[in-house]
Amino acid sequence: MNQKNIDNLRSRVESELLSRVRRPARYIGGEVNQVKKDWSACDITVALCFPDAYELAMSHTGLAVLYEVLNDLDGVLAERVFSPWGDAEQVMRERALPLFSLESKKGLSQFDLVGFSLNAELCYTNVLNMLDLGGLAVRSVDRLETDPLVIGGGGMANNCEPISPFIDAFVLGDGEESVVELVGHVRKARAAGLTKRELLLAAARTFDWFYVPGLYEVQYDGPVIKSIQTLEEGLEVRRSNAVVKDYESAPACMRPIVPFIEAVHERVSVEIMRGCPGRCRFCQVSFCKRPIRHRSV
Ligand code: SF4
Repeated sequence: MNQKNIDNLRSRVESELLSRVRRPARYIGGEVNQVKKDWSACDITVALCFPDAYELAMSHTGLAVLYEVLNDLDGVLAERVFSPWGDAEQVMRERALPLFSLESKKGLSQFDLVGFSLNAELCYTNVLNMLDLGGLAVRSVDRLETDPLVIGGGGMANNCEPISPFIDAFVLGDGEESVVELVGHVRKARAAGLTKRELLLAAARTFDWFYVPGLYEVQYDGPVIKSIQTLEEGLEVRRSNAVVKDYESAPACMRPIVPFIEAVHERVSVEIMRGCPGRCRFCQVSFCKRPIRHRSV
């Protein structure tokens, strides 16, 4: 990303974007319960990306939980980055205005970690579009050592192969404890001076819920996976979903952000159960969110 494009992003957003889009409230941030931490006081910065419009992103319970979990950590900040609507994208592309966070109006490329919440395959193209709008190379192999680590999580991480050339690593399964472990790992890896690949390899060896596509070779027989082989000696092929064991005391969103405009879900969500006893064969929830856990409310 050209340096002059990410300088003064806040004033550029205000002067070049907001008056040219139909719903400026999608891009201004500043809502009740927004968390805006001091960048100079945080050594790990996380862009929590949702590859869909503001109204959908603000209705997603998982994203709200991770926002609180990460911002509650000392030295860590998390800011929201959502997919712009078509009118905003047009202005951003015409004016070389990079994709930015709602809280501090920082460019996507300025974060240490760029984490995408993957909730529907139909949004995969939005992931690529957001990377491109953020000034990052779309393919992992084309990104630089100094670029953020691009992480995918959420329900669709269990079907990650179609998007694996574009994401550095996937966090599989429950995210509220694994993101904390991952942030701790990144902090230690940085202190030890590890390269990006070394950091990813060390994480893959440490966490069985961490899948790094670049460390494996996947062979196909038509559309079917024929084999998966590790490219690193001793690295396990088998990966597992992270599971929050003490679901009763798992973090919930206690300070939900209140949008200025109508969101898809105009309500506060409280997750009272993870998994589903329905066990329908076609349903991802029934297979990927096991064991079924309940929370007293
Ligand atoms: S479709 Fe999924 S969520 Fe719905 S009842 Fe079946 S298993 Fe449960």
